[in-house]
Amino acid sequence: MIYADPLAGLTRAARLRREREDAEFIKSHAGIVRTASAASLKRDSNTWTGLDTFAAEHFQPYQSGESVDFIICARMDLDHPLYFPDNLFADCADCSCNLQYRPDAPPGERLCVCCAARRVREAGDG
Ligand SMILES: [Zn+2]
Repeated sequence: MIYADPLAGLTRAARLRREREDAEFIKSHAGIVRTASAASLKRDSNTWTGLDTFAAEHFQPYQSGESVDFIICARMDLDHPLYFPDNLFADCADCSCNLQYRPDAPPGERLCVCCAARRVREAGDG
């Protein structure tokens, strides 16, 4: 299913607010939020997805081989600069916006924060 970019047409302030709200939703409704690795837990703590909302205490390290529902990635646009020089790039699996992610991020579908929040909502988890 292809969705329109949830942030398209919004003002900068509205885009950032929507991302923060969706991150808060994910934080309080998704089962477990993991980070790429124990090392990235420290390294990426406050830049993960570009949102302070996702601070280190909300993560558990990803265990190699573990299956994940999807990978939440930071956007790569005028509001979201390149956070690390060796970041890699992908398009959001749902809305095709430009994303950046760490080379040690696990394999899986890469989503922007807003599309990830929609999937969590659709999953109907409490
Ligand atoms: Zn998206």
